[in-house]
Amino acid sequence: MNWITNIVRPKIRALVPGRQHDLPDNMWIKCPNCGAMLFHRDLEQNHKVCPHCNHHMRLEVDKRLDLIFDNASWRTIELPKVPSDPLKFRDQKKYTERLKDYRSKTGREDAIVVAYGEISGIEAVVAAFDFNFMGGSMGISVGEGIVAAARLAILQQSPLIIIPASGGARMQEGMLSLMQMPRTTIAVTQVKEAGLPFIVLLTDPTTGGVSASFAMLGDIHIAEPGTQIGFAGARVIQETIRETLPSGFQRAEYLKDHGMVDMVVARKDLPETLGRILSILRQPLEKAKVIRLPLGVAKPALRSIGGRKADSSDNAKDSRKRTIKRARKDDSGDEPI
Ligand SMILES: [Zn+2]
Repeated sequence: MNWITNIVRPKIRALVPGRQHDLPDNMWIKCPNCGAMLFHRDLEQNHKVCPHCNHHMRLEVDKRLDLIFDNASWRTIELPKVPSDPLKFRDQKKYTERLKDYRSKTGREDAIVVAYGEISGIEAVVAAFDFNFMGGSMGISVGEGIVAAARLAILQQSPLIIIPASGGARMQEGMLSLMQMPRTTIAVTQVKEAGLPFIVLLTDPTTGGVSASFAMLGDIHIAEPGTQIGFAGARVIQETIRETLPSGFQRAEYLKDHGMVDMVVARKDLPETLGRILSILRQPLEKAKVIRLPLGVAKPALRSIGGRKADSSDNAKDSRKRTIKRARKDDSGDEPI
């Protein structure tokens, strides 16, 4: 990046002397996977996926909701107010101050957004985590958000989609954050009991208490390529069991191969895939109707084989013999198929 910072950027600034302050500092973004320099506008257009190596970078919540809802049209609901610092927690600084910083930085009350709108013309409720708000950690507020999303889905009789991006439970809320694990589990169970689909879209990262509760309880688990999904960190596991972990451990593709994830879907294909799943689950094909025939009509109809009507049982037997003979001939390989 040095040659861009030291040579290219001063030259660009020299070309437009009156507009030095208009140039943003992050016009070029380095792909953390392949190291390619990507122009920020190209990267935005590609939904933050590297065009060279297909690495899926973390996508902001608003952009993700724009991506999956029809015509980028969605509305949020107001979430219940919760006590902001019940334990009066303090580490390097007060938890209340930390919250204040994140609120001003993200413009959000906490790490979750509950939105509703249409996906491929089907009403759906989406609860999405904001990783930029304290690492998407789950405290009381996030728990309330998921409960509210589940209630809204039941009220609207619409499917629930949860999009976790979280490091797990919020340590500043101690036991109260751990209590959100059973609460969210009950909330999504109620959605299932109401006969509504519950889909989890796992995004990078889904770890800790989030993966140990509702995030692994979906009817369908979709994951973005390369997403880290697990409970404890790979290093902690490796040190505990004292074995080398397999390559791709805790990644979406590995979990799909081992049955924890149903499908790994590229970001650009997410709207279409979600729409297809919802249309299958929400608009099932009409059941075939059973028509009762009068008894006299039913008998000859049963004798017809393969659409051809047989006049007598002898004819039907002959026809069956011919079919068997022909099948044997085909099996012996005498005739080309
Ligand atoms: Zn790349």
